[in-house]
Amino acid sequence: MLYLSVTHARRALTNEWRWQNFQIAELACKCSDRYCRGQYWHAPRFLDHLQTLRDRIGRPLTVRSGHRCALWNAHVGGAPKSQHKQIAVDLAVSGHDRAQLYAAARETGFSGFGLARSFIHLDLRPQTATWFYHRSRETWMTSLA
Ligand SMILES: [Zn+2]
Repeated sequence: MLYLSVTHARRALTNEWRWQNFQIAELACKCSDRYCRGQYWHAPRFLDHLQTLRDRIGRPLTVRSGHRCALWNAHVGGAPKSQHKQIAVDLAVSGHDRAQLYAAARETGFSGFGLARSFIHLDLRPQTATWFYHRSRETWMTSLA
């Protein structure tokens, strides 16, 4: 469900927010008011996956990108049908073991895995898919070997 701003989302969701290591602001659009007021797409099932992953990893996860409004998604070069237009996350891999993060994400039940040099994209698409971004294959193959 779409909320048009972090403020609106907070007001509506405060009582039901149970994902202790995540906040609406970090999952909302990061276009900084260029194209929206900080839109946020609320999907409890996605958040349950994210929190479960966080619990498995046992250390903070940094959300580089969460929901994106349509114009911000286009601006940052996201695919036209990107899962970020609803909800997906790009998590920074810095400070984490890549292979461990990827394995934990798979065990958690995510289905979309985008492997970039500095982040891992995770979403809940209908069909499982794993892909590499520009010049990321070798980085990941080395750590997954
Ligand atoms: Zn935006």
